[in-house]
Amino acid sequence: MDPIQTSNHIKDILSQNATADVKQVRELLAKARELKGLTLQDVAALLSVDDETLLEEMFHTAREIKETIYGNRIVLFAPLYISSECANNCLYCAFRRSNKEIVRTTLNQKQIADEIEVILKMGHKRVLLVAGEHPVRCSIEYMEESIKTVYETKVGKGEIRRLNVNCAPLEVEDFRRLKAANIGTYQCFQETYDPEVYKVMHPSGPKSDYLYRRTVMERAMEAGIDDVGIGPLLGLTDYRFEVLSTLAHSQELDEKFGVGPHTISIPRIEPATGVEISENPPHVVSDLDFKKLVAILRMAVPYTGMILSTRESPAFRDEVIKLGISQISAASRVDVGGYVMGDRKDGQFSVGDHRSMDEIMQELLSDGYVPSFCTGCYRLGRTGHDFMDLAKPGMIKIFCHPNALLTLKEYLEDYATPETKAIGEKVIAAELNSIPSEERRKVTLERLKEIESGKRDLYF
Ligand code: SAM
Ligand code: SF4
Repeated sequence: MDPIQTSNHIKDILSQNATADVKQVRELLAKARELKGLTLQDVAALLSVDDETLLEEMFHTAREIKETIYGNRIVLFAPLYISSECANNCLYCAFRRSNKEIVRTTLNQKQIADEIEVILKMGHKRVLLVAGEHPVRCSIEYMEESIKTVYETKVGKGEIRRLNVNCAPLEVEDFRRLKAANIGTYQCFQETYDPEVYKVMHPSGPKSDYLYRRTVMERAMEAGIDDVGIGPLLGLTDYRFEVLSTLAHSQELDEKFGVGPHTISIPRIEPATGVEISENPPHVVSDLDFKKLVAILRMAVPYTGMILSTRESPAFRDEVIKLGISQISAASRVDVGGYVMGDRKDGQFSVGDHRSMDEIMQELLSDGYVPSFCTGCYRLGRTGHDFMDLAKPGMIKIFCHPNALLTLKEYLEDYATPETKAIGEKVIAAELNSIPSEERRKVTLERLKEIESGKRDLYF
């Protein structure tokens, strides 16, 4: 791959589709409703839309697609930052090597277990392990040990059932070790797909090698990790370019491996201690453009999970979820050791959503969502290609929806306040009616009863 050539190709598609009339946009929205995705040219045309009425129609279509495929389920997870030591100097990140304004920490195994205990007591079942890139402090052995600690730490009936990883790119043999350690998704963001901007943003350290990062998922997939997560860091360059490049990346993986990324993340740069650029990013993405890009991604890759983090404020987050988000982080701490010690402003960036887990659960339930802690697919080997085969609207209703209700029930039994429990029980009772198969409804009801009498970890 020649990064400059690839980037010019994307820029050409954008300039060749820099306008779209009403008729074309409506045709594209109709095409999106067929749930077969969109081409790069289609997406470039939609990215050019600024007209308010057309944007509203776009949002409406995205909501419809989200509703058809994912229903009202929303999967929750917690990030766990284990090290802020880093050999790189990414201009936007508080962990960058030359930042003297944060105190550096790498958690030992006892501290990791302590963090997990707090996370478990909130009711989480999924964790995303995050680390800086440090050859000694964050060695593959340290990562393996940390993963083991996370899975082995239990509190009462609580346990982490799926651990995903966001760490620096590795060689195939090290990815094999992560796979053997039982990770779910491997996540790595390209940050910017523009090689020139990339060079400026990553002036030194191993991360300055654009191609090594751009080819990371090929190595992960070669090692057998078939759930991978990609994404740009929004704010470094024109968002239209980043969105189109992310989709091109997704198509490329699909063509090479028969399956696209499991998830796409869309972080916006947030203010971080000691990081000038984070206060004033070169290409700020407005809330409206952010909503537009979420809607377009939902239409373009309808079956790919989309993740929103606590970087966004609660009110805005609720608005965006409806447009196509399938996973959110909840009650996150981005300070290393932050679940035990609280926020010390040494974290990777500032969090926009400070609600507790129970508050988030209560709000989601009151807004008509079914918060899910399900990890069923991954544990039954329904990953990569198999997951994509399954991720058709009907199948999601048969597996994901009942599993969401079972894991919600566990939350209500073990962690919810009485108010949240009362709301949650009503939601479960109502949602049971929307399980299409009578047999599946009957078994789900039986399993809900089993959970009430103390059984855990039941899934389809
Ligand atoms: N060090 C590894 C790497 O860079 O790939 C993994 C961990 S890094 C902390 C995870 C992600 O955080 C980065 O890929 C970047 O997109 C994001 N990030 C860094 N600084 C940020 C900021 N100021 N606001 C929002 N996200 C940021
Ligand atoms: Fe290090 Fe990752 Fe932050 Fe860059 S983004 S400074 S590699 S932790």
